[in-house]
Amino acid sequence: MSDSIIQRLRFIIAIMKRKTITNKTATPKRYHWSANLLKSIEDPECKIREDDKIVVIKDKYPKAQFHYLVLPKEDILNIWHVKKEHQDLLTYMHDIACDLIKDQTDLEFFMGYHAMPSMQRLHLHVISTDFNSPCLKNKYHWNSFTTPFFLHSQDVCRQLRIDGEIKKISRELCTDYLNTKLKCHKCSTPAKNMPDLKRHLLTHISKCKP
Ligand code: AMP
Ligand code: ZN
Repeated sequence: MSDSIIQRLRFIIAIMKRKTITNKTATPKRYHWSANLLKSIEDPECKIREDDKIVVIKDKYPKAQFHYLVLPKEDILNIWHVKKEHQDLLTYMHDIACDLIKDQTDLEFFMGYHAMPSMQRLHLHVISTDFNSPCLKNKYHWNSFTTPFFLHSQDVCRQLRIDGEIKKISRELCTDYLNTKLKCHKCSTPAKNMPDLKRHLLTHISKCKP
Protein backbone atom coordinates (compact mmCIF):
# COMPACT_ATOMS: atom_id res chain seq x y z
CA MET A 1 0.00 0.00 0.00
CA SER A 2 1.36 3.43 -0.88
CA ASP A 3 2.27 5.96 1.81
CA SER A 4 -0.48 8.31 0.70
CA ILE A 5 -3.16 5.60 1.06
CA ILE A 6 -1.86 4.67 4.52
CA GLN A 7 -1.84 8.37 5.45
CA ARG A 8 -5.41 8.72 4.20
CA LEU A 9 -6.59 5.64 6.15
CA ARG A 10 -4.94 6.91 9.35
CA PHE A 11 -6.67 10.23 8.82
CA ILE A 12 -10.10 8.62 8.39
CA ILE A 13 -9.62 6.37 11.47
CA ALA A 14 -8.55 9.29 13.65
CA ILE A 15 -11.49 11.39 12.52
CA MET A 16 -13.92 8.52 13.20
CA LYS A 17 -12.48 8.03 16.69
CA ARG A 18 -12.75 11.72 17.56
CA LYS A 19 -16.09 12.37 15.88
CA THR A 20 -14.92 15.94 15.42
CA ILE A 21 -17.16 18.90 14.83
CA THR A 22 -16.44 19.83 11.24
CA ASN A 23 -19.16 22.32 10.66
CA LYS A 24 -17.66 25.77 10.37
CA THR A 25 -20.64 28.08 10.44
CA ALA A 26 -23.77 26.66 12.01
CA THR A 27 -23.91 25.70 15.67
CA PRO A 28 -24.85 21.98 15.86
CA LYS A 29 -28.27 21.19 17.30
CA ARG A 30 -28.28 21.15 21.11
CA TYR A 31 -29.60 17.59 21.37
CA HIS A 32 -26.59 16.19 19.51
CA TRP A 33 -24.01 14.46 21.77
CA SER A 34 -21.51 17.17 20.90
CA ALA A 35 -23.73 19.63 22.79
CA ASN A 36 -23.44 17.79 26.10
CA LEU A 37 -21.10 20.40 27.58
CA LEU A 38 -23.94 22.89 27.18
CA LYS A 39 -26.09 20.66 29.37
CA SER A 40 -23.31 20.29 31.93
CA ILE A 41 -22.78 24.05 32.31
CA GLU A 42 -26.44 24.36 33.24
CA ASP A 43 -26.30 21.50 35.74
CA PRO A 44 -25.54 22.68 39.31
CA GLU A 45 -24.02 19.24 40.04
CA CYS A 46 -21.34 19.79 37.38
CA LYS A 47 -20.55 23.46 37.96
CA ILE A 48 -17.73 24.32 40.27
CA ARG A 49 -17.48 28.03 39.50
CA GLU A 50 -19.45 30.65 37.61
CA ASP A 51 -19.49 34.37 37.00
CA ASP A 52 -20.89 36.70 34.34
CA LYS A 53 -18.28 35.62 31.75
CA ILE A 54 -17.45 31.94 32.37
CA VAL A 55 -18.51 28.61 33.85
CA VAL A 56 -16.08 26.00 35.18
CA ILE A 57 -17.14 22.34 35.22
CA LYS A 58 -15.43 19.10 36.08
CA ASP A 59 -14.65 17.01 33.01
CA LYS A 60 -17.10 14.08 33.06
CA TYR A 61 -14.45 11.66 31.79
CA PRO A 62 -11.32 13.06 33.47
CA LYS A 63 -8.05 12.05 31.86
CA ALA A 64 -6.04 12.85 35.01
CA GLN A 65 -6.46 13.31 38.75
CA PHE A 66 -7.69 16.89 38.16
CA HIS A 67 -9.42 17.79 34.95
CA TYR A 68 -11.56 20.91 34.65
CA LEU A 69 -13.07 22.71 31.70
CA VAL A 70 -13.46 26.50 31.57
CA LEU A 71 -16.17 27.63 29.14
CA PRO A 72 -17.18 31.16 28.18
CA LYS A 73 -20.82 32.16 28.47
CA GLU A 74 -20.49 33.70 25.00
CA ASP A 75 -21.47 31.09 22.44
CA ILE A 76 -18.14 30.60 20.66
CA LEU A 77 -18.21 27.26 18.82
CA ASN A 78 -14.54 26.36 19.21
CA ILE A 79 -10.98 27.68 19.16
CA TRP A 80 -11.14 28.32 15.40
CA HIS A 81 -14.01 30.74 15.91
CA VAL A 82 -11.97 32.87 18.30
CA LYS A 83 -11.29 36.37 16.96
CA LYS A 84 -8.93 39.16 17.97
CA GLU A 85 -11.72 40.79 19.99
CA HIS A 86 -11.86 37.66 22.21
CA GLN A 87 -8.33 38.32 23.44
CA ASP A 88 -9.47 39.68 26.83
CA LEU A 89 -11.91 36.79 27.27
CA LEU A 90 -9.24 34.14 26.60
CA THR A 91 -6.84 35.92 28.96
CA TYR A 92 -9.60 35.97 31.56
CA MET A 93 -10.22 32.21 31.07
CA HIS A 94 -6.47 31.64 31.48
CA ASP A 95 -6.47 33.66 34.72
CA ILE A 96 -9.46 31.66 36.02
CA ALA A 97 -7.54 28.44 35.23
CA CYS A 98 -4.47 29.70 37.13
CA ASP A 99 -6.65 30.59 40.08
CA LEU A 100 -8.30 27.15 40.07
CA ILE A 101 -4.98 25.37 40.50
CA LYS A 102 -3.22 27.84 42.78
CA ASP A 103 -3.56 25.63 45.87
CA GLN A 104 -2.40 22.43 44.11
CA THR A 105 1.26 23.31 44.58
CA ASP A 106 2.44 19.68 44.49
CA LEU A 107 1.02 19.06 40.98
CA GLU A 108 1.84 20.37 37.52
CA PHE A 109 -0.91 21.33 35.12
CA PHE A 110 -1.40 21.80 31.40
CA MET A 111 -3.89 24.45 30.31
CA GLY A 112 -4.99 24.57 26.71
CA TYR A 113 -7.26 23.75 23.81
CA HIS A 114 -7.52 20.75 21.51
CA ALA A 115 -6.73 21.64 17.91
CA MET A 116 -9.62 19.44 16.71
CA PRO A 117 -12.19 19.58 19.52
CA SER A 118 -15.01 17.06 19.61
CA MET A 119 -17.44 19.01 21.80
CA GLN A 120 -19.10 22.30 20.96
CA ARG A 121 -18.59 25.58 22.85
CA LEU A 122 -15.01 26.69 23.29
CA HIS A 123 -13.48 24.98 26.35
CA LEU A 124 -10.15 25.38 28.06
CA HIS A 125 -8.78 22.12 29.47
CA VAL A 126 -7.11 22.46 32.88
CA ILE A 127 -5.50 19.10 33.52
CA SER A 128 -2.93 17.76 35.97
CA THR A 129 0.03 16.13 34.26
CA ASP A 130 -0.12 12.86 36.24
CA PHE A 131 -2.58 11.56 33.57
CA ASN A 132 -3.54 8.95 36.14
CA SER A 133 -7.11 8.04 35.24
CA PRO A 134 -9.05 5.02 33.99
CA CYS A 135 -10.70 7.34 31.43
CA LEU A 136 -7.36 7.82 29.67
CA LYS A 137 -7.70 4.84 27.41
CA ASN A 138 -6.03 5.22 24.06
CA LYS A 139 -3.28 6.79 22.00
CA TYR A 140 -5.59 9.54 20.77
CA HIS A 141 -6.44 10.59 24.33
CA TRP A 142 -2.75 10.63 25.20
CA ASN A 143 -1.50 12.46 22.12
CA SER A 144 -4.31 15.02 22.34
CA PHE A 145 -2.68 16.40 25.50
CA THR A 146 1.01 15.70 24.96
CA THR A 147 1.73 16.72 21.35
CA PRO A 148 1.30 20.08 19.54
CA PHE A 149 -2.32 18.96 19.03
CA PHE A 150 -2.71 20.57 22.47
CA LEU A 151 -2.57 24.35 22.05
CA HIS A 152 -1.23 25.72 25.30
CA SER A 153 -3.33 28.59 26.60
CA GLN A 154 -0.36 30.88 27.11
CA ASP A 155 0.70 30.45 23.45
CA VAL A 156 -2.85 31.00 22.23
CA CYS A 157 -3.17 34.21 24.27
CA ARG A 158 0.24 35.39 23.02
CA GLN A 159 -0.65 34.69 19.38
CA LEU A 160 -3.93 36.59 19.72
CA ARG A 161 -2.14 39.54 21.34
CA ILE A 162 0.75 39.71 18.87
CA ASP A 163 -0.69 38.37 15.57
CA GLY A 164 -4.38 39.02 16.17
CA GLU A 165 -5.18 35.41 15.24
CA ILE A 166 -4.38 31.81 16.16
CA LYS A 167 -2.09 29.96 13.76
CA LYS A 168 -4.12 27.35 11.87
CA ILE A 169 -3.14 23.67 12.01
CA SER A 170 -4.15 21.49 9.08
CA ARG A 171 -6.32 18.41 9.64
CA GLU A 172 -3.52 16.27 8.21
CA LEU A 173 -1.07 17.63 10.79
CA CYS A 174 -3.67 17.07 13.56
CA THR A 175 -3.95 13.45 12.43
CA ASP A 176 -0.19 13.04 12.44
CA TYR A 177 -0.04 14.41 15.99
CA LEU A 178 -2.78 12.01 17.13
CA ASN A 179 -0.89 9.12 15.57
CA THR A 180 2.46 10.00 17.16
CA LYS A 181 4.22 7.03 18.77
CA LEU A 182 3.59 6.78 22.48
CA LYS A 183 6.21 8.35 24.71
CA CYS A 184 6.34 9.80 28.20
CA HIS A 185 5.72 13.55 28.33
CA LYS A 186 8.13 13.94 31.24
CA CYS A 187 11.21 11.91 30.23
CA SER A 188 10.46 10.84 26.62
CA THR A 189 10.71 7.12 27.45
CA PRO A 190 8.98 5.27 24.59
CA ALA A 191 6.05 2.98 25.40
CA LYS A 192 4.88 -0.10 23.47
CA ASN A 193 1.21 0.45 24.31
CA MET A 194 -1.11 2.22 26.74
CA PRO A 195 -0.75 -0.26 29.64
CA ASP A 196 3.04 0.06 29.26
CA LEU A 197 2.81 3.86 29.26
CA LYS A 198 0.44 3.90 32.25
CA ARG A 199 2.82 1.72 34.27
CA HIS A 200 5.63 4.10 33.41
CA LEU A 201 3.58 7.20 34.38
CA LEU A 202 3.07 5.76 37.87
CA THR A 203 6.84 5.86 38.43
CA HIS A 204 6.73 9.66 38.05
CA ILE A 205 3.84 9.93 40.50
CA SER A 206 5.55 7.83 43.15
CA LYS A 207 8.72 9.93 42.76
CA CYS A 208 6.71 13.05 43.75
CA LYS A 209 5.29 11.47 46.91
CA PRO A 210 7.28 11.92 50.15
P1 AMP B 1 -12.43 18.06 23.30
O1 AMP B 1 -11.76 16.92 22.65
O2 AMP B 1 -11.46 19.19 23.54
O3 AMP B 1 -13.70 18.51 22.65
O4 AMP B 1 -12.78 17.55 24.77
C1 AMP B 1 -14.10 17.40 25.25
C2 AMP B 1 -14.01 17.05 26.72
O5 AMP B 1 -15.32 17.03 27.26
C3 AMP B 1 -13.40 15.66 27.00
O6 AMP B 1 -12.31 15.80 27.89
C4 AMP B 1 -14.57 14.87 27.60
O7 AMP B 1 -14.14 13.97 28.59
C5 AMP B 1 -15.44 15.95 28.17
N1 AMP B 1 -16.87 15.66 28.27
C6 AMP B 1 -17.62 14.93 27.38
N2 AMP B 1 -18.93 14.97 27.75
C7 AMP B 1 -19.00 15.74 28.88
C8 AMP B 1 -20.07 16.17 29.71
N3 AMP B 1 -21.34 15.82 29.46
N4 AMP B 1 -19.78 16.97 30.78
C9 AMP B 1 -18.50 17.32 31.05
N5 AMP B 1 -17.46 16.95 30.29
C10 AMP B 1 -17.69 16.18 29.21
ZN1 ZN C 1 8.82 9.27 32.03
